[in-house]
Amino acid sequence: MKELDTHTYRLAVAQFDQAAETMQLDRNLRERLKLPQRSLVVSVPVRMDDGRVEVFTGYRVQHDSSRGPSKGGIRYHPDVNLGEVAALAMWMTWKCALAGLPYGGAKGGVTVAPKQLSRAELQRLTRRYAAEIFPLIGPDQDVPAPDVGTDAQTMAWIMDTYSQQVGYAVPGVVTGKPVSIGGSLGREEATGRGVVYVTLEALRQLNLSVQDATVAVQGFGNVGSHTALIMQQQGARVIAVSDVTGGIYNPRGLDVRDLLDRYKTRGQSLRDTKMGDWLSNEELLQLDCTVLVPAALSEQITGKNAASLRCRILAEGANGPTTLEADRILEDKGVFIIPDILANSGGVIVSYFEWVQDLQRFFWSETDIRNRLQEIITSAFHRTKQFATERCVSMRMAALMSGIDKVAQAHLQRGLYP
Ligand code: GLU
Repeated sequence: MKELDTHTYRLAVAQFDQAAETMQLDRNLRERLKLPQRSLVVSVPVRMDDGRVEVFTGYRVQHDSSRGPSKGGIRYHPDVNLGEVAALAMWMTWKCALAGLPYGGAKGGVTVAPKQLSRAELQRLTRRYAAEIFPLIGPDQDVPAPDVGTDAQTMAWIMDTYSQQVGYAVPGVVTGKPVSIGGSLGREEATGRGVVYVTLEALRQLNLSVQDATVAVQGFGNVGSHTALIMQQQGARVIAVSDVTGGIYNPRGLDVRDLLDRYKTRGQSLRDTKMGDWLSNEELLQLDCTVLVPAALSEQITGKNAASLRCRILAEGANGPTTLEADRILEDKGVFIIPDILANSGGVIVSYFEWVQDLQRFFWSETDIRNRLQEIITSAFHRTKQFATERCVSMRMAALMSGIDKVAQAHLQRGLYP
């Protein structure tokens, strides 16, 4: 399908092809799983504050629903397109299967620069987008969540729009909501906490102590900021963080709590905090560090810069941050890669907890959430490591193959309809 043919989609398919080939996946299934199950493209007309109507384009792609409702975030970003959303939906399918969650994969998005809209405009955009994708979503069908450019407030508007349409409150239609309307404790920080749990396991594998570890984080949004803060709480030294404008570097370690307070609460730019030397995102990736966490957008580590990376562990907080060419280079260099569908699965794991709590109308303590998250993600890490060792494949291939295998089994057991 030509609309899908973008670089991100090509990366997702190339990873899939490589895994499918290695595991000798059934030919018919291969053709099916390369493509989304359903894709919806919608026009989202929005009344802007100045009275004009601007029409945005929105998407919701369900890659697979053989194992349960499809699940995945909604992204607001100017570069969002059908191919990117379809790639992210495919990664969600493997991610949920790898973690053992009873979900398929989906993703949504709107091509928009959310920071350029007022809060009122964003609310109207979100509600109209939710109304347009209404036929596809629902607690038993497809459950959205936050992603780049969206947050708990976005989810609250979607939950309300959906609930208004059906006439009663349906908290289980989205996850990542505010706690006041059925959100889960610990969901906000869950992706970052998950990145930390698997990073601690990787450090153990390499016989490295967290106290001696240095960490560089690309991206200071939800995933990057919580990863940096929790790594520091675990005793690691966070030496650099960045956002779209660039980053700050301090070899003695940044006080992440103080930095977050200035950046998020007081709205200071990273540069204005003067807490470290200014550096570009490209320079950050090439810092000498124990752990590098790309937690921004896809395809940051490529054939061009992979050889210059100087980390021991690459913990992929973002989805699709590394190209296949870069994978080969990093493998030769002996970098321990914790692939995205494993490293950043803490978000969707706690989304699952949130959905279960909503359906049961019974809520868990934060300690329960943390313990169960750690149990699920740590066991996924060890299963993946063992698979990689036994089958002599990379951590990325091991994660993909395990996920794909679970989805393939579901398809083969359910059979082909009609
Ligand atoms: N957007 C997150 C991801 O890429 C979370 C998805 C979810 O919780 O459904 O994994």
